[in-house]
Amino acid sequence: MNHHYPNERIDHSSRLHWTGRDQNWNYQCAEYHSTNLEKHYDLAKDSFHTMKDRLTTITGLVLLLAASWLMLASVAAAEDGRHVLVLYSNHRLLPANVEADAGLRETISPDTELSAEFLDYPRFSGESYLRTLTAFLRTKYALRPPAAIIVGGEEALALLLQYRAQLFPEIPVVHMGVMRAFLRDHPPLPADVIGVPIELDFSATIEQALRWHPRASHLVLITGAAVPDHAFEAQLRRDVGRFSGRVTTEFLAGLPTATLQQRLGELGDDAIVFTPGYFEDGAGDHFIPRAAAKLIATAATVPVYAPFDPFLGTGIVGGAMTPFLDMGRQAGQLVNALLDGAAPASLTVPTVMPLRWHLDWRQVRRWGIDARAIPEDAVIHFRTPTFFEQYRRESLLVLSMFVLQSGMILWFLAERRRRRRAELTLQKQRFELVHASRLAVAGELTASIAHEINQPLGAILSNADAADLMLESSPASSQAQREELRAILADIRRDDLRASAVIQRLRGLFAKQAVEHQPFDLNDVVRDTESLLRIEARRRRVSLDTQPAARTARLLGDRIQIQQVLINLVLNAMDALAQQPEERRTVVVSVAVTADVMTLRVVDGGLGIAFEHLPQLSDSFFSTKRQGMGLGLSIARTLVEAHGGRIRAENAPGLGAVFQVEFPVVGGSQSTWETV
Ligand code: ADP
Repeated sequence: MNHHYPNERIDHSSRLHWTGRDQNWNYQCAEYHSTNLEKHYDLAKDSFHTMKDRLTTITGLVLLLAASWLMLASVAAAEDGRHVLVLYSNHRLLPANVEADAGLRETISPDTELSAEFLDYPRFSGESYLRTLTAFLRTKYALRPPAAIIVGGEEALALLLQYRAQLFPEIPVVHMGVMRAFLRDHPPLPADVIGVPIELDFSATIEQALRWHPRASHLVLITGAAVPDHAFEAQLRRDVGRFSGRVTTEFLAGLPTATLQQRLGELGDDAIVFTPGYFEDGAGDHFIPRAAAKLIATAATVPVYAPFDPFLGTGIVGGAMTPFLDMGRQAGQLVNALLDGAAPASLTVPTVMPLRWHLDWRQVRRWGIDARAIPEDAVIHFRTPTFFEQYRRESLLVLSMFVLQSGMILWFLAERRRRRRAELTLQKQRFELVHASRLAVAGELTASIAHEINQPLGAILSNADAADLMLESSPASSQAQREELRAILADIRRDDLRASAVIQRLRGLFAKQAVEHQPFDLNDVVRDTESLLRIEARRRRVSLDTQPAARTARLLGDRIQIQQVLINLVLNAMDALAQQPEERRTVVVSVAVTADVMTLRVVDGGLGIAFEHLPQLSDSFFSTKRQGMGLGLSIARTLVEAHGGRIRAENAPGLGAVFQVEFPVVGGSQSTWETV
């Protein structure tokens, strides 16, 4: 191809080396084959002697036949017309050629045989060279004429057009990598010479670069001092005219590389650089354009753009480029169509190879280019996939598990909150119920309460009357009268205190107060209950006997609640005695304390509990009484259990029902339940 395209690996020594090695390899192969043939001939001669020899001979013959068949097959393929000759302008290691060739082989149909020739321009040129080469090609391909020719680059196209009549008359030609300007400057191509020309468009790259760097107001353009460098410079000067209103331009053309690098290091933030590289600098040093681009990108403190894809990886950001690979693919498609019988004139080809953006992702990140502003069809190089891109499926799996787990945790938390709220509501309702039940007890005790308060009030009244009488009968008070009056007043005070103690106890029982968690003595609860129910027992003609324990029975919890339990049990016991004869109307309340357990027992002299009622006793609303609510025992059980205890009911032989409440004594004096 045209040597004006950047060439990153021109290495003459390596080329010679490789050619030499190839020849050597061919020679070695030929030598190997002839030795083998001789061997086979000798073996054939001896084959009549041993069976083994005979077999070897047959194998040799089969191999020979196979080789002949392969040769015939390849000749047949050529005769089939699927043989294509590719003629490149430059030598075979030029990156542009390598890329185009790869595109070609990737596209061309597999049954097509490809031959390649290289003009080695510009190292070999001139009229006599071309004539010699033409004669060589004519002789070489007379035996196996190609059905189509591909030319890569302008020199190869020029040669073919000049010597076509002698070389390959009437064989269709496909060109690739030929500048559009070259075609414009020459007579129109024959109808059977087709291809897609290329056009370098530097302005497309600059235009897009200015869009990505909106703060850029200074455009720096770098070219070299060689003939092709001047051609680049001329094109650049034409192209940048359209940006003159938007940015200031600075041409650094043909400077010594050291001077150039110094200037590049001084550029401000507002600059961007564009360069097609250069072959030669102002100091007369030669470069391959890729190497020049690398020096430029290294020295520059601003983004560098370029129009050739071999520059990618040197530090340039990228540019709108015509990749050589695409050229090869395009030519391959055209050749396929021609070999399939399409007339060259019938094939519609684009007027020019389209440009495509190629970008170095690392530079995109370095210069903060907005990824959303990158054309969708841009080819991104050096992009290391992110962890998520690399392990997409695994990440999604872990993520979805995480989301699921979080969802479940949230759901559980919400559920727990809902349950807590429900528990609180339940607790509140239970508290209300307990309190309501206490008020119901108050209703039941109204008569005895009234009696208990009336008694001291009556005594107060009679004492007050007595004092009044005393004062009326003898106003002049003697020492003895004063003593008498003081005694009456003391009685009044005592009765008043008695009445207020009753009220105090009742208020304690019936006031709505928060649940307590304090230590208290079970014996005190028994005593309080006895004084509260004493009058009620008397009213019902029941003897209420209390037997506190000799030891303190200390519980931790709500004293009023345990008192409520006891009141319920004693009132139930009194109810059970309603129809009993006088001698059996007894209720005994006792407290017993052992090392493990504190027991509160209520035993009555009633008829006991019917066997079938035993399992339902503590069910809410179970009652055998006409006006019973059936809540007393169920509330008692709830309250006892809240204090870590349990309640049992049984029938005592010879007596009535026995209700036994047990509280555990756990771990001595420091425990929740303790006895002293
Ligand atoms: P209520 O007293 O309103 O009926 P309770 O829950 O206090 O509700 O009692 C439920 C039932 O248990 C009573 O109706 C009664 O049949 C039975 N019961 C409770 N205590 C005794 C007892 N000491 N003797 C016999 N039966 C009893």
